[in-house]
Amino acid sequence: MPEPDATSGTGDVTRGCARCGITAHASEGGVPAGWSFGVEPTGRLTYTCPDCTRANIRAIEGKLPEEYWER
Ligand SMILES: [Zn+2]
Repeated sequence: MPEPDATSGTGDVTRGCARCGITAHASEGGVPAGWSFGVEPTGRLTYTCPDCTRANIRAIEGKLPEEYWER
């Protein structure tokens, strides 16, 4: 039987950039290398690709605690 890969709870998942829509693979519960993430007021997690992170770094830094960086 085929197994679902993105939502099976093991292996890789696909993250989509909240700004440009590009996707990348990450380990389950993780963030793709170089990507950043944040939490919207609704509690929804959003992910941002390296290019958009650079373009919006000031806005993102204003909203995220430093410990969320470097991963
Ligand atoms: Zn992007």
